[in-house]
Parts: sequence; C-alpha cells; structure tokens
Amino acid sequence: MSEPLRVGVVGATGMVGQRFVSLLADHPWFRVVSVAASERSAGKSYAEAVRDRWAMGAAVPKAIGTLTVKNAAKIEEVSREVDFIFCAVDMPKDKTRELEEAYARAETPVVSNNSAHRGTPDVPVVIPEVNADHFAAIEGQRRRLGAKRGFIVAKPNCSLQSYVPAIHPLREFGPKKVFVCTYQAISGAGKTFKDWPEMVDNVIPYIGGEEEKSENEPLKIWGSLKGAEIVPATEPVISSQCIRVPVTDGHLAAVFVSFEKKPSRERILEAWKGFQAKPQILGLPSAPKPFIRYFEENDRPQTRLDRDFEKGMGITVGRLREDKILDFRFICLSHNTVRGAAGGAVLMAELLKAEGFLQRK
Ligand code: NAP
Repeated sequence: MSEPLRVGVVGATGMVGQRFVSLLADHPWFRVVSVAASERSAGKSYAEAVRDRWAMGAAVPKAIGTLTVKNAAKIEEVSREVDFIFCAVDMPKDKTRELEEAYARAETPVVSNNSAHRGTPDVPVVIPEVNADHFAAIEGQRRRLGAKRGFIVAKPNCSLQSYVPAIHPLREFGPKKVFVCTYQAISGAGKTFKDWPEMVDNVIPYIGGEEEKSENEPLKIWGSLKGAEIVPATEPVISSQCIRVPVTDGHLAAVFVSFEKKPSRERILEAWKGFQAKPQILGLPSAPKPFIRYFEENDRPQTRLDRDFEKGMGITVGRLREDKILDFRFICLSHNTVRGAAGGAVLMAELLKAEGFLQRK
C-alpha cells in the first residue's frame, strides 16, 4: 500500500477540528502530522489545548495529543509538513477566505468546512455522492490562484446534508418546490449543554444565516460547470425554517416536495434503496453502504437512535407519504458533525485522492 498522505488540521482545537482528529486517528490513507489553531492555542501540546473542551466520546488520540499546536497564520510553517489540510476555523469570513487562499497559493490543497468560499463560483461545494463532477472546476481555480497543486474545495452546510441526499435520487422526477424545517443539534453551533445551558428544555427558532445557506447551497450543488464556473441550478425552489433543538448531535429535517412528474411512493422508495454513487462503487474507506436507509416504522428516524447509522456517514429517512399541498412529505436525518462536517470532508478527501487531485508533495 502507498504511504499515507500527511494531513494538517487547521482549527484542530474546535468542535469540528476535534471530530477530524478523532476520525483520522486510524485512517488507512491519511495521517495527522500537524494541528493548528489561533495564537491563543499555539505553542501548547494538543492535549493541553483541548483539555477543558474535548467533547468526543473517545480520548484524545495519543499520537496527536503530543503534537504542538501551530499558529494557523504561519502558512509556510504548516504547509512545509503536510500534503493537504482540513480547515474548520471560527473567524470572520473575509479572514477565512484569505487564510484558505494563502494555503492554496502555498500549494497546500484545502478541504474546507467553512462557509467563506462556498459562494466563490470556481470553488466546488461537494457532497461526494451527489456532485463529484464539480471537481472539474479545480483546474480553472488553480489558474486563477496561480497554483499548480493547491486548490480549495468546500463541504456544504450541515443543515442540508440530510435532505439534499434524499432529494438527489429523485431528480429524474423533476423536484420543483421544497419546503423544509430543520431541527438542529447544539453541536452545530460548536456547543455542548455545559457551555450552552440556555438550550436545556428549550427550542430557539433562529439560527443566524442558516436559512439562506439551506436554500441556496443545494442549488450550487445541483448546478453545472460552465467554463471555469459552477452555475447554480434554478430548481427546485427551496423555502426553509431552521430551528435549534436541545439535542447534542444530529440534524433532523421535515421535508415537503412537489415534482414535475409525480412519482409513485414505490418509485421513490426504489430510488432511495438502489442509490449508490462513486464513494460506494470505489469502496472508499469512509463510504457508508448503503448511503440511504428507509425506515417503515412511523417513529423513525430518531435523532438519538439513528444519527450514528453507518458510523454517522449514512442518511436515514422515514414517514414518506402523500401531501395535501405538495406531492410528498418525509423526515430525514444526518449526523451534523460527522456526515455534516468532518466525516463529509474526510470522504471528499478520499475521493479527491482516488481521482488523483491529492498526492504526496
Ligand atoms: P469552534 O468549536 O468554535 O472552533 C473554532 C476553531 O477555530 C478553533 O480551533 C479555534 O482555535 C480556531 N480559530 C478561531 N480563531 C482563529 C484564528 N484567528 N486563527 C486560527 N484559528 C482560529 O467552531 P466549530 O463548530 O468547530 O466550527 C468551525 C468551522 O466549521 C466554522 O466555520 C463552522 O461554521 C464550520 N462548521 C461547523 C459545523 C458544526 O457542526 N459544528 C458543521 C459544519 C461546519 P482556538 O481554540 O485557538 O481558539
């Protein structure tokens, strides 16, 4: 087997960064050799930097706990050691954009969890099972950035990672309108109940910026490549309400859809059951098999019972039935910090490696 790629996690001390560190601890293709965060954490050992805020089930992986946290702004210092980085930082958007472009220009590919570049026309926003063809934009992006091997790809927002995979296999029926209400876990805000006690026994009907992302990002994902840019699709039109609920992990969505050619219930179930894409066909290490599981039980999927389906990488769906206003309605669920964040990015990096976009320096 070829040598593993050397990986840096930028934002390694945060909620998503910790998930990267956990998921990559025993990864067959990738080895974490560098962790970076703000200057507040720089210089400490990783174990020390996360001591009071480690939120993962298992302990800090030994080999990563002893690494010294670097200052993410020291691009050359981090780049020198790694073949590519995962980036998940909590910084103003313009600063995140600058940071990611600086890494790409320093010939370090960036697999990003941040929203800063999702609107940039030549930056692919990818769910590996849905629009891996958008990686073709990388060539033009490299020309714009003046990079030979560096580039930026982004993972979409966590709110949409249950319903876009569920609607995608139904595209042949022409989905036209989508209403969606999302019920989102507190880890989506980088929080636990300990540091957000106001969320206990409470529901907050507002998540800043989330509704715009959950309505617009799917259209870029379903968009097409024209020249060097990804032009967003115009349908389905999506209207969303995003609500914060008192659960630790797992974003659930209640979805209503109308179609140009209304399928039967059976055709929809068949489309979900048989759906597989490149990650499943190539047998990538983090690919869920199956990607989508449908429950016949009326009370599933449930956040606590089903968020870990296929190690948090699969999508669970239930309660498919006809709707009085649109054509069909159903419920779907995905794990927001696994499939919706770090796990989705790791799977994207596996596909980038399998397709030759990531190699050793
Ligand atoms: P978080 O827990 O607040 O962690 C933020 C990370 O960013 C920490 O490592 C922090 O380092 C680092 N950071 C802050 N300021 C920095 C600076 N000036 N320079 C370098 N690093 C800096 O946030 P999070 O929930 O992990 O989210 C990180 C990113 O992922 C955000 O863009 C978020 O929108 C996105 N995201 C989150 C989720 C989710 O489910 N949580 C899902 C998808 C995407 P220090 O520890 O040194 O402060």
